Amino acid sequence: CGIVGYIGSQQAAPILLEGLTRLEHRGYDSAGLAVLGGTGIKVAKRAGRVRDLADGLPKRFGGKVGIGHTRWATHGPANDVNAHPHTDGKGRVAIVHNGIIDNASVLRQRLADEGVELASDTDSEVLAHLIAGSEADTLEAKVRDALSSVEGTYGLAVMHADFPDRLVVARNGSPLIVGVGDREMYVASDLAALVRHTTTVAHLEDGEITTITAGGFTSARETVTLDIDPDAYDAGEH
Ligand code: GLU
Repeated sequence: CGIVGYIGSQQAAPILLEGLTRLEHRGYDSAGLAVLGGTGIKVAKRAGRVRDLADGLPKRFGGKVGIGHTRWATHGPANDVNAHPHTDGKGRVAIVHNGIIDNASVLRQRLADEGVELASDTDSEVLAHLIAGSEADTLEAKVRDALSSVEGTYGLAVMHADFPDRLVVARNGSPLIVGVGDREMYVASDLAALVRHTTTVAHLEDGEITTITAGGFTSARETVTLDIDPDAYDAGEH
């Protein structure tokens, strides 16, 4: 349903939680976030409100890269395990996904045949395992590789412990907007989660896969600086 991501020099968790709160108006049944810090990837997620997620967040949840999600369940009930982010189960990869993977049952079976244990009932989890299993060199190439066997719609944000300086995002039928800050970058599925931080944005197009670092992003999309008042925007004038 909703995606937020951050990479820069600030702590990611508070920014992600605030972004998730700004996505609440879209409706959701679960929320979660993952950050990548010195000790690897940490995940917190649960069914229920963003406020409950924030209240229950472990004290030590440091990391300057992170992704967050509000889920509107399509595959699997709204419970803690099915909430996003999903991981490869080994702490290497974390993903958040909006949309529906149409061939998820085929991919789940294929992964199970390879000995992969799936933790959740979701269609989305296969993405984390496919990316973790790719032998491509770069994170962007791993994501491209994984998506080549996927049919369906996605707004996708990916974090990988071996590539701590980047996020990779991909879009097909589900909106994603990159926000450009001062040596920090944001991504979100909805402008509402960005405008407090930056109004310089780029709308990704379907089929695009983009690498985001603290200093920029690789998409050919032009950035535009929007002439909007964040206060008015938050007040629901959209
Ligand atoms: N299909 C995914 C799920 O059920 C993502 C749903 C969403 O867009 O929130 O977990």
